[in-house]
Amino acid sequence: MPLRNRLTAFALLLRRKAPATPTSSLRTGGYGRQVDIRITTDLFVRVRALVEDTTHGEEAGFLLCSVNRLDEIDVLLARELIPVPPGELHRNTSGSALTWSAQFNSSVIERAIAIGATPVLVHSHGTPQPTFSDDDRINERALFGAASRLLSPAPTGTLLLGNGAANGSFWLKAKTA
Ligand SMILES: [Zn+2]
Repeated sequence: MPLRNRLTAFALLLRRKAPATPTSSLRTGGYGRQVDIRITTDLFVRVRALVEDTTHGEEAGFLLCSVNRLDEIDVLLARELIPVPPGELHRNTSGSALTWSAQFNSSVIERAIAIGATPVLVHSHGTPQPTFSDDDRINERALFGAASRLLSPAPTGTLLLGNGAANGSFWLKAKTA
């Protein structure tokens, strides 16, 4: 299975002004199973407002999601958004390559485990066709390699939103793809 899949269903969703249903669905893969992420319109509006405001450079947040493991697919239901606080966010001079402290990262994982959820990182490059950067790929391994062992059997991973498309990459037991 390809590491990162273009999400066409998601593209349709983004073009729709008034969704027919209150819940959106994004489908991706990454560790040998499909991942379906469902998010209410209200929460999705908040996610977009966070990651598409590039006034100070890129922004990022974690969606804490409940997990329902079905035969061939893991269904993630987004429950809450934890933005990476401004004081935690470090960017390079071009405003990208987001990093934050290990403590903040641990606090997100602890919160997720406490409510029986798994974290999914969300960010955007402000470009229509979302492509993970080299820095994203380096950071992803650091963020999800070890954490995915703690969170197993729930998958964890990252979503990159674009205008009309999204890319996702998910991890389980320190493995992706
Ligand atoms: Zn990025």
